[in-house]
Amino acid sequence: MPTDKQTFVIVGAGLAGAKAAETLREEGYDGRLVLLGAEPERPYERPPLSKEYLRGEADREQAYVHEAGFYPEHEIELRVNESVVRLDPRRQELALRSGGWLGYDRMLLATGSAPRRLSIPGSELDGVHYVRTLADSDALRSRLHAGGRLVVIGAGWIGCEVAASARQRGVDVAVIAPHSVPFERVLGPEVGAIYRDIHVDHGVQMLLGTAVASFEGVDRVERVRTQDGRTIDCDAVVVGIGATPRAMLAATAGLAVDNGVLVNERLETSAPGIFAAGDVANQLHPSLGRLRVEHWDNALRQGPAAARGMLGSSESYTRAPYFYSDQYDVGMEYSGHGAGWDRVVLRGDPAAREFIAFWLRDGRVLAGMNVNVWDVAEPIRALIGHPVDECRLADPDVSIEESALGEVAS
Ligand SMILES: Cc1cc2nc3c(=O)[nH]c(=O)nc-3n(C[C@H](O)[C@H](O)[C@H](O)COP(=O)(O)OP(=O)(O)OC[C@H]3O[C@@H](n4cnc5c(N)ncnc54)[C@H](O)[C@@H]3O)c2cc1C
Repeated sequence: MPTDKQTFVIVGAGLAGAKAAETLREEGYDGRLVLLGAEPERPYERPPLSKEYLRGEADREQAYVHEAGFYPEHEIELRVNESVVRLDPRRQELALRSGGWLGYDRMLLATGSAPRRLSIPGSELDGVHYVRTLADSDALRSRLHAGGRLVVIGAGWIGCEVAASARQRGVDVAVIAPHSVPFERVLGPEVGAIYRDIHVDHGVQMLLGTAVASFEGVDRVERVRTQDGRTIDCDAVVVGIGATPRAMLAATAGLAVDNGVLVNERLETSAPGIFAAGDVANQLHPSLGRLRVEHWDNALRQGPAAARGMLGSSESYTRAPYFYSDQYDVGMEYSGHGAGWDRVVLRGDPAAREFIAFWLRDGRVLAGMNVNVWDVAEPIRALIGHPVDECRLADPDVSIEESALGEVAS
């Protein structure tokens, strides 16, 4: 355990950073602890920003990771509106935007990711939104309140959740995406088509297989033109085309960076004493190889794991990815990492939107997704990596555990 003379600095006051700070105190670290965040808010969770907060069904307080008093009570020096502009790993110092340098003994990079931006004619017009921050969600929320027609660019998680929330608010919605179905890359055509149909059933115009060419309007966006020549009138646009890791600080400091900050199994970067967690970290996962995960659960758990690493633990971060999404009355949880699957097995009733999908490779489960079927995420997780009997796996009368060939650890 380091002595109380030490200073630990966490750069990035999002979920990963806040949970790391909490864990450092829980684990008994009683030195100086500084949590630096570029945003004007104390740490908050982002999932509500495209769901209940955007729809006006949840208030701001519900999004925060901790109550405001948590930070002073635990002697965590939370500095909001404070960006780190430079990192000097040799001198173990950080340069602050507000001026001055801050020395550290151990550091955590939890700088998250930023929305990928479109650069096409009209992309700077007023009314073109991105959804990453509370301020972004506030701006879009007022726009949805005014009604009208929204065009969503991208049929990924954020685009589809925003589309669903907007429909639930009575706004007309069109989705434009180059893929043939939503989430095609992750879920594949068959399961992606189920999500396409869910949106169509809720009145969303799905313009798939084409990309956006330009935004047009005088003072603000009034219409969207697609590459296949269609025009769609609108009052606002949301761009949800993915995110990129905020790794610039690490890169300019000479840390190893490649699609995020490269970290080893225990989340330490190429610079000893500097760790990374959450969206920005590209981990050498013990069983899945190089992996950067942009999900809530990963930030929630990697923050604490990195904190333990800062305190000297040699424990590896071994958890398989997990994420969830809510669209209309359809909730889902996805466990595992399905990249490279060669077969999808469905169990339950996709037409009724109550089913489980499994992605397999060479007869072994890579990932599973339960849709409106609850309390099964743990058995699905336990099956990851195991060979299964596909007929039993598809049969809802056989328990998930019993579809495994051989023993499954519970
Ligand atoms: C709208 C939306 C909905 C989502 N919904 C879901 C969902 O339903 N399910 C799910 O699993 N995941 C969801 N996610 C993803 C999830 O929210 C992210 O994976 C999670 O927020 C990552 O947390 P993080 O702490 O790593 O990074 P972030 O939340 O991005 O926090 C990083 C913080 O660091 C700050 N920062 C960056 N650079 C600096 C610097 N140089 N100095 C100081 N501060 C800096 C940033 O301003 C930011 O506040 C959603 C994301 C969004 C945007």
